[in-house]
Amino acid sequence: MAEVTPLFETYARAPLRFERGEGVWLIAEDGTRYLDFAAGVAVNSLGHAHPHLVSALKEQAEKVWHLSNLYEVPGQEKLAARMTAATFADKVFFTNSGAEALECAIKTARRYHFAKGQPEKFHIITFEGAFHGRTLATIAAGGQAKYLEGFGPKAPGFDQVPFEDLAALKAAINEDTAAILIEPIQGEGGIRVASKEFLQALRALCDEHGLMLIFDEVQTGIGRTGKLFAYEATGIAPDIMAVAKGIGGGFPLGACLATQEAAVGMVAGTHGSTYGGNPLAMAVGNAVLDVVLEDGFLEHVRDVALVFRQGIASLQDRFPDVIEEVRGEGLMLGIKAKVPSADLLKAIRAQKLLAVPAGENVIRLLPPLTTTAAEAREGLARIERAAEQLTSVKHKASA
Ligand SMILES: *Cc1c(COP(=O)(O)O)cnc(C)c1O
Repeated sequence: MAEVTPLFETYARAPLRFERGEGVWLIAEDGTRYLDFAAGVAVNSLGHAHPHLVSALKEQAEKVWHLSNLYEVPGQEKLAARMTAATFADKVFFTNSGAEALECAIKTARRYHFAKGQPEKFHIITFEGAFHGRTLATIAAGGQAKYLEGFGPKAPGFDQVPFEDLAALKAAINEDTAAILIEPIQGEGGIRVASKEFLQALRALCDEHGLMLIFDEVQTGIGRTGKLFAYEATGIAPDIMAVAKGIGGGFPLGACLATQEAAVGMVAGTHGSTYGGNPLAMAVGNAVLDVVLEDGFLEHVRDVALVFRQGIASLQDRFPDVIEEVRGEGLMLGIKAKVPSADLLKAIRAQKLLAVPAGENVIRLLPPLTTTAAEAREGLARIERAAEQLTSVKHKASA
């Protein structure tokens, strides 16, 4: 530790070394068990070592790992058919990550206008606090200075307006605008939930101006909010949607979904990926859907979400000096801290519970969708002990 590392030093890692996982638990090299409500940042949607995912991966590993997109890949056709049957979309392009799913979404929106004879329409409006990934285009889309600094000129064609500011949005739309891109719930930004009314207004504006509406459901998708996708709760649908994280359950997998109309410009040769839709990823993605689409699964997510919601609300009542606000939907929960959120995160970790930092002094709880009510209550008890500890420290300091 603290010696020269052969790794790029791009991450501020916690000094924890995990050896294996079992469901909602991560087990460190020294045997310590942690309740994992970080879930690899909403990736381990079915927890660790889920038997159905393990057997799907093993079975595929013994057949063929990789084919490339020179050939037909039956797993892609199966997963795409299931994803289009379950959503607004007609077409799917598979990627290996969230940022690549966004890249495909951005290219699809621009290419749509190109195909319609309006190549000047390539600007995409995004929202302050957004996070869409770390490629050169997606840092431009996210618009956050801390991710853009030092990487040369910001990629052109991204205009940003404040979150939920309809007047600013209307003012930003012009003849160059191609699309509006939004996370229905900002994840990295601090679990900021876009209101249903705002999202409906975006749909109406896109229809009025002939724009593509793009939802980034990389974090909110695949049951995280208690619906298969967050847009289902809004009464509207986007034209294009980026998906990743939970769909792979831990295997690198993303997807860009679009309506037939929106995908009109994405003809042969316009886009590609060597690994995208690789048989191993398809086997796991299909296995994740086997579980998430099972009768009653999303109902389970909503039931457990309620246990969390009520539990955190009562902790907020008891520890108003520690917890300021509870945010989010389903199992995408944010605790806005009254103390520095890093202190709360550390106190929670000391109770062997893992969570994820976010913007606006929020910590995120993103437990596996398979978390039981009993495991949720165990997590709440640990947060309670952390809050007690922080409160007593505070009282000592002021005594
Ligand atoms: C994580 C995330 C991304 C980027 O995904 P990567 O797989 O890290 O490239 C994009 N958008 C949202 C909303 C995310 O949460």
